[in-house]
Amino acid sequence: MPQHRRLQDRVAIVTGGARGIGEAIAARLASEGARVLIADIDGEDAAETARKIVQETGSDVTAQKTDVANPAHAAAAIGMATARWGRLDILVNNAAIPDVTAFNNLTYDRFAKVMRTNLDSVLICTVAAARFLAKSPCARILNIASIMGVRGSRDSLPYSTAKGGVVNMTRALACDLADKGINVNAIAPGYIRTTNTEALQNAETRNRQILERIPAARWSEAEDIAGAAVYLSSKASDYVNGHVLVVDGGWMGR
Ligand code: NDP
Repeated sequence: MPQHRRLQDRVAIVTGGARGIGEAIAARLASEGARVLIADIDGEDAAETARKIVQETGSDVTAQKTDVANPAHAAAAIGMATARWGRLDILVNNAAIPDVTAFNNLTYDRFAKVMRTNLDSVLICTVAAARFLAKSPCARILNIASIMGVRGSRDSLPYSTAKGGVVNMTRALACDLADKGINVNAIAPGYIRTTNTEALQNAETRNRQILERIPAARWSEAEDIAGAAVYLSSKASDYVNGHVLVVDGGWMGR
């Protein structure tokens, strides 16, 4: 456990925090002293993850079954956190669904579902949280985008379009919420070792091509993203607003 806890007594909500990158972020925020509510569509997994993080960090961590695309659910999760802890300082909009669809197989229904879950949800949770965040002395919204929201790639039209939306929504929200003292930033992860990317990690040729393109020559672990999340949640990033922090081992720079 760190000696100096950078987020002591802050209150954070991490959407999609039952596993993967969200779980790593929730655990790191808790280890830095934050109290954390994990808002995930899988309520049982979220509760189990919360129990694990409590054991590991000693912080107060709880869970609420939440569909981030549903405004009533988002409001309920934020209501639960503010009722329990009396404040809200950090909202991490991390929940999303993966999507790989060849252009010829696209349907509008699938496109709309990915947009609703991966882009609209960021606004839905932000609107529900803003009036509570506005009372925090160090208010942060952190949106998890993707390098696919900055670059195009094959078979990713709904996902890339939604993540591109998250990137520019971050900048627009930073302008709109600056007068409330809320900093809004994004992290654009590269290739992260989560269950989401297992098929890609196990596809020998594709995996080799990916590694050849990453200067760091390794997949990122979810903890790499959590480190960036702590910085963007802490006082150290007070003057960072509307920024998209790419965490990709150098992939974009190549
Ligand atoms: P995971 O699929 O491992 O975890 C996402 C979590 O969000 C799951 O627990 C999932 O539940 C939950 N979730 C899905 N839909 C909803 C919803 N409507 N409401 C609430 N929770 C929901 O994803 P990763 O950890 O891999 O990714 C996390 C974030 O990082 C995402 O925004 C993703 O787009 C982004 N990202 C990931 C990369 C990677 O390489 N893994 C690369 C770049 C960006 P369930 O499992 O039940 O669906």
